[in-house]
Amino acid sequence: MKKEIKMDFIKEYKKEKIRYEEFKNDPIKLDISRGKPSKKQVDYVASVFKKAEIEFDLYSNRTGIDKQDVGNYGLLPGITELRQLFGELLDLPYENIIIGGNSSLSLMYDILSLNLMFGNMQSKTPWYNLENRKFLCPSPGYDRHFMMTEYFGFELITIPMTPQGPDMDMVESLVKSDPMIKGIWCTPLYSNPDGYVYSDETVERLAKMSTAASDFRIFWDNAYFTHHLVPNKVNKIKNIIKLCEKYNNADRVYQFSSTSKISFPGAGVSLIASSKANIEHIQNNFKYRIICYDKINMFRHAIVFRTKADVDSHMEKLAEFNRPKFNSVLEILDNELAEFKNYLHYTRPEGGYFISLYTMEGCAKRTYQLCKEAGLVITTVGDTYPYGKDAKDSNIRIAPTFPELDELNKSISLLACCIKIAILEKLTDN
Ligand code: PMP
Repeated sequence: MKKEIKMDFIKEYKKEKIRYEEFKNDPIKLDISRGKPSKKQVDYVASVFKKAEIEFDLYSNRTGIDKQDVGNYGLLPGITELRQLFGELLDLPYENIIIGGNSSLSLMYDILSLNLMFGNMQSKTPWYNLENRKFLCPSPGYDRHFMMTEYFGFELITIPMTPQGPDMDMVESLVKSDPMIKGIWCTPLYSNPDGYVYSDETVERLAKMSTAASDFRIFWDNAYFTHHLVPNKVNKIKNIIKLCEKYNNADRVYQFSSTSKISFPGAGVSLIASSKANIEHIQNNFKYRIICYDKINMFRHAIVFRTKADVDSHMEKLAEFNRPKFNSVLEILDNELAEFKNYLHYTRPEGGYFISLYTMEGCAKRTYQLCKEAGLVITTVGDTYPYGKDAKDSNIRIAPTFPELDELNKSISLLACCIKIAILEKLTDN
């Protein structure tokens, strides 16, 4: 019996090897390592902005509801119409929101720096003074989060992710006993890379849990809050800022987001939302480093997106660019990997920018190498874990949005072929 199965493996291996050589003879030359919108999507967004700007004549009409010239200094927390819009989108009073520059990641960096240099309201001890400071990293997760806290000298603690969010039993027991744990990274809606949605219970427990560190902070990166993929299905997460308030932990959470994948990646607007006291604390720090952020860009966004309905219909349109790509990737994986379902699994996200595939343990790096040799660059294996180390060598992040459909299909067929070869090599002892 055993011998028979092994013969099948060898037959399958030979078949995939022939296919692989064909891929290599016609190399793909494609990089799908990052979650970037396609050129067609950016072109579409540009056409929307162009139309609105021509109609409005932004440079002649530079005053909004604040009655201040957006082309001049002023308004450190950002223009009120945009704060109100995000307030409506995130179900928060606009006073709890600061609009930043072109990157939410840089706001996260600034807020971490603020805590490292000056501490926060709950403890005046700067985190930088604490040599063995630690940060919780639900994994797999976003590599740039992990890199940032590693760079700032935190010990990174891996917390396993589940389809409901981080393993909360582990989170609660760690934060309860260790005052050196100062924070946790969370991407609560359509997590990067799994596309998981934090359950109501998870959000509630994060808001409620008792922490040994009085100055503990949740870095709530709500990057994909409006990036739904399934028609007429809007997944929602609980409002953590309101829940923290309810449980007398009002200052526990900093929420971040941006329009990087609503308008222009690298040229949108970002935001931070938090308790009133935190917002004041942040402004009192920001005033030493900036007079105001780019209000012309904010105004440009406020002209295009006047109401929540404008954002919703725009995002439905953007979903039309990405939905066929996600569907196509899943269809190819379903067809190609049906025989391999005992050795791997992958997520079927309802939003966000990624699909996460868990191949047989010990096979992800080999898959990456095979793809690379045939001209396809996927996310570096390990990047989705603290210190770039996936202990199981299993997670592969698939970012389907950047290439057009024909290129994407070819590259996912190649990826599937490489996954099969790597698994078969292992099963047949090479
Ligand atoms: N957070 C997450 C979870 C991301 O996937 C990304 C990348 N798109 C970012 C933040 C970066 O956002 P920004 O462009 O606003 O810096």
